[in-house]
Amino acid sequence: MYILQCWIEHPVRTLDQTFTYLSNEQTFRGCRVRAVFGMSSLTAFVDSCEYTGETKEQIESRMKMKLRFIDEIIDTQPLITDELYDMAMWMKEATLSPAISCFGAMLPAKVKPASGDRKIVMEKYAVLTEEECELTPKQLEAYIYVRDNQPLLYSNLRKLFPNQARQLVTKNAIAIIEKEKKGSLSFTPGTLEKPELTDLQKSVINEIETSDDTVYLLRGVTGSGKTEIYLQLAEKALSKGKQVLILVPEIALTPQMIERVSSRFGSKLAIYHSSLNPQEKYEQYRLVMNNEAQVVVGTRSAVFLPFENLGLIVMDEEHDTSYKQDSMPCYHCRDAAVFRAQYNHCKLVLASATPSLESYARGLKKVYHLIVMEERINKTLPSVTIVPMKQSIRKAESYIISDVLREKITDRLDKNEQVILLLNRRGYHARLRCRHCGEVIRCPHCDLAMSWHRDTRMMKCHTCGSEMRLPLICPSCGSKEGFMPYGFGTEKLEHELETLFPSARVLRMDADTTSRKNGHERILKAFAEHKADILLGTQMIAKGLDYALVTLVGIINGDDGLARTDFRSCETTFDLLMQASGRSGRSEREGEVVMQVFDPDHYAVQSAAKQDYTSFFQEEMRFRHAGQYPPYTYLISVTFSSLKEEEPQKKAEAFKNGLHGDYKLIGVISLLKTHDLYRSRILLKGKNLDLMRRDLSEFMAQHPELLKGIRIDINPMYLD
Ligand code: ADP
Ligand code: ZN
Ligand code: ZN
Repeated sequence: MYILQCWIEHPVRTLDQTFTYLSNEQTFRGCRVRAVFGMSSLTAFVDSCEYTGETKEQIESRMKMKLRFIDEIIDTQPLITDELYDMAMWMKEATLSPAISCFGAMLPAKVKPASGDRKIVMEKYAVLTEEECELTPKQLEAYIYVRDNQPLLYSNLRKLFPNQARQLVTKNAIAIIEKEKKGSLSFTPGTLEKPELTDLQKSVINEIETSDDTVYLLRGVTGSGKTEIYLQLAEKALSKGKQVLILVPEIALTPQMIERVSSRFGSKLAIYHSSLNPQEKYEQYRLVMNNEAQVVVGTRSAVFLPFENLGLIVMDEEHDTSYKQDSMPCYHCRDAAVFRAQYNHCKLVLASATPSLESYARGLKKVYHLIVMEERINKTLPSVTIVPMKQSIRKAESYIISDVLREKITDRLDKNEQVILLLNRRGYHARLRCRHCGEVIRCPHCDLAMSWHRDTRMMKCHTCGSEMRLPLICPSCGSKEGFMPYGFGTEKLEHELETLFPSARVLRMDADTTSRKNGHERILKAFAEHKADILLGTQMIAKGLDYALVTLVGIINGDDGLARTDFRSCETTFDLLMQASGRSGRSEREGEVVMQVFDPDHYAVQSAAKQDYTSFFQEEMRFRHAGQYPPYTYLISVTFSSLKEEEPQKKAEAFKNGLHGDYKLIGVISLLKTHDLYRSRILLKGKNLDLMRRDLSEFMAQHPELLKGIRIDINPMYLD
């Protein structure tokens, strides 16, 4: 008999421990089983399975408890490797999340412990039997075809031999077996040539290859040839028979990068991202597990793919906030990548034009091996013009497109070149205010202003997505005087362009125009083929795009992000300005950038205009030091949410009163309501993360009654 320790799939935190079951059959760590827990039958994840010669009664008397047999073993093979198991245990400690939620975050939906839909798609194959039987000539032809093409999909046999297929089965000449449907790596590989490396690129590769360090931070201005460097490193890892993982923030936004990777590694490449359906994800997961995919380009969760033989990990745009998961377990992909690189004794290359402050500080402290590339491949950085919008508006220029920007756009249209315009807000009017009482129209589910959208003629909440018609009377005071618009988004910018440049062909790319499958691809393809002159959009157009004809980038309300009260708002504003500027003048033609801002002297704007990361880093570090923010300290945010208004506040208070140590407790802060949930938060801030984590974990263990609706975010990305 076997004694199993299992993690039970259950959302209750107090059940974050293994439970003991019995089984007559052997199973393995990482397989799912069904077992009765309390009154219900649940899925459980096997942690260990040990053989014993004892009887049930002997085990029970030894363990002093009643034990149950499991009902069923679901998987014959483990879904995770030993490495992934260790990683789940590491993640549980690092993020203070229940183990089962860590397994859940790591596995594709089809095989998550919680997945009720555990139907793996099976396919029928025809194989020959040992049976001797008499066949007609036509049947014999079909028989030989099966013999020569084994294993043959039965559906293919039916297509080729519609009359004979069934007869062969009846005669028992062939048998039908079921196999798990196999994924394919099929997509059209690109056909780009591999360039000759520059001396700088060669020396960077050499530096990485000859060093014993594990983690590298490659900071290089946009267009300095970073991608080419890691493609060549990947090639070398492959030639040694190793697997390679390339992490990217968002696949849909990087069609060009995919083209480059697929040109190089076509038949060995798998792509793993959020818009694959569950079956597709599962298939890709299997391909990696069976070592059939040697290179994977994937988003955040690809860091959990079951590689057995990893030789290199690359994390492109390492500063990107999408690498952090914002629901429990709130892990950062970078930490998981570091874990894997250490486990596999392979190298991790973090690449960015604007590394996160945390990473760069580690680079300077030599925790990461820092390599800097200051020059573009084409040797020229775009020239930048800052337009102070207060002055332009005072001169009665348009508050959307200044005269300077308008003239430059006209010039590019005349020269048949392309323009990218960034405005990081969607919709038409950002908000509407009552003419009588001045209140904005807020979302009924969130304490936030709703935007008006022209496409749908609806008010929309950008936080929870709910929509409503424009009210006839003010929801706050009941007045019928109507509303005044404030602020504008991409729809209004599009409208303005139509008015100013009636003959220009304009494409808009934001969450509203890309919600359908392949929405991003369609827009970017049209722009690449020069079917449009101007591409306008939100931050999604700031990343990765590399079009030779783009010689002007305009950034509208470029310092909007500074208005946020978050400690990272300067950093994210700077990143956006730098990334967007990097889209201009990437080939032989000279590039220009226009930044329309309200605070032209701000160091985030000034440094971005000079494409000067170092000066920004120094200024920002001074600010972080003064406020004792990361990377000078660590933060843990503990948020409680509930449909009941008073509950989060009470729980947060209890935590605040219960925690004492060498760290600060900030709050209780009550946050804006979102998705109908009231929220309160406390913040732990200190120099010793392990200590803060340990105290918090101990307090939680003592107070299971406080844990419902808790969210713990260690090293949070945002505080607002
Ligand atoms: P980054 O990743 O730093 O933005 P890329 O690797 O995308 O830089 O390179 C910028 C541009 O220069 C791309 O169009 C790329 O194809 C091209 N490029 C990169 N390396 C070379 C090289 N050695 N010779 C010629 N062109 C190159
Ligand atoms: Zn009103
Ligand atoms: Zn809302």
